[in-house]
Amino acid sequence: MDRQYYINLENEFGAHNYNPLDVVLNRGEGIWVWDVEGNKYMDCLAAYSAVNQGHCHPEIMRTMIEQAQKLTLTSRAFRNDQLGLFYQEICKLTNSHKVLPMNSGAEAVETVIKAARKWGYKIKGVPRDQAEIIVCENNFHGRTITIVGFSTNEISREGFGPFTPGFKIISFGDVNALEEAITPNTVAFMVEPIQGEAGVIIPPAGYLKEVKAVCEKNNMLLILDEIQTGLGRTGKILAEEHDGIEADLTLVGKALSGGFYPVSAVLSNTEVLGVLRPGEHGSTFGGNPLACAVARTAIKVLIDENMIENAAVMGEYLLSRLSEIKSPYIKEVRGKGLLIGVELIPEAGGARQFCEKMMARGVLCKETHENIIRFAPPLVITKDEIDWAMERIEKVLS
Ligand SMILES: *Cc1c(COP(=O)(O)O)cnc(C)c1O
Repeated sequence: MDRQYYINLENEFGAHNYNPLDVVLNRGEGIWVWDVEGNKYMDCLAAYSAVNQGHCHPEIMRTMIEQAQKLTLTSRAFRNDQLGLFYQEICKLTNSHKVLPMNSGAEAVETVIKAARKWGYKIKGVPRDQAEIIVCENNFHGRTITIVGFSTNEISREGFGPFTPGFKIISFGDVNALEEAITPNTVAFMVEPIQGEAGVIIPPAGYLKEVKAVCEKNNMLLILDEIQTGLGRTGKILAEEHDGIEADLTLVGKALSGGFYPVSAVLSNTEVLGVLRPGEHGSTFGGNPLACAVARTAIKVLIDENMIENAAVMGEYLLSRLSEIKSPYIKEVRGKGLLIGVELIPEAGGARQFCEKMMARGVLCKETHENIIRFAPPLVITKDEIDWAMERIEKVLS
């Protein structure tokens, strides 16, 4: 079957809530993917950082198959032999004390909002139903009603109200704006260390450190959404390490399973998660043995195979190569580790057409907003492979 057959099926039977490039993939290995016509592409998106470990990583796959043959789902009505080990290993890796496992990233965000509010009422003493959480302009935290309610992206919000109250929006990267927005009822500030979906927006150096100090001073929680920046993407296990801080609550997802399975988690450094009692929160699939086994191996290979260091070194190399392109279209190149954004000038005619041209040359990227191309390949990419991609990227952009 040719690709048009599959595209037609999607268009006929699927909701049109995405605008994908017209490439129909059926195989992946490491940084490479193949389409149904046998063409080979370098994946420079890595499923929005969910396949940091590379496609179909053999060790994660082995775990997935072996665990699937033993036990997949017990529900949390019973215990399983993978959950505790997963807790222990992710806590050790991220220097956390407690974990609450969920499935999608949005569920982790919803969970952290519930935990922070509960902490506000039980520990901080905020009057009932008055808790406020501060978030940033241009945030991306997922797609549920509550989350899109505090988005500033019109397309995400329009037509989905009424929304959940209790959120205040301030500008990103601005510590003064944070201080001004705080009231006695503020329980938390939730922020992405780097705004990925907004177009790889990097805050001023030291921002998170100052934010952390402000949160401590005002007895409120710092929540870092590291669903995209975490697990090696920026060249550290968590992006917070670049600022030498530890958030009170950290969200991870995406690469937590190496792309095999939806697994997310809320990690807590203080005992905030301790405010939740039996029955107050849960998920049928959250913490299931298949998810835990897959996640255990997914974080193990990140370390064993030096993927995080590789992200730092190769990220710097890719950033410098992209910065050297002489192009009339490029406004700015920015990034940390292997999370890189190339912003085009508005007159370039939009990032989409450049992504389509790169696809034709075998490099898969996706535009984010009108004018930004995100480069975020799996963390296993080599220098030679970057050179291979750069030859093609240069031809399209210059
Ligand atoms: C992808 C993402 C989410 C949402 O994760 P889903 O698994 O798509 O629900 C939340 N926050 C950030 C920063 C993300 O990149």
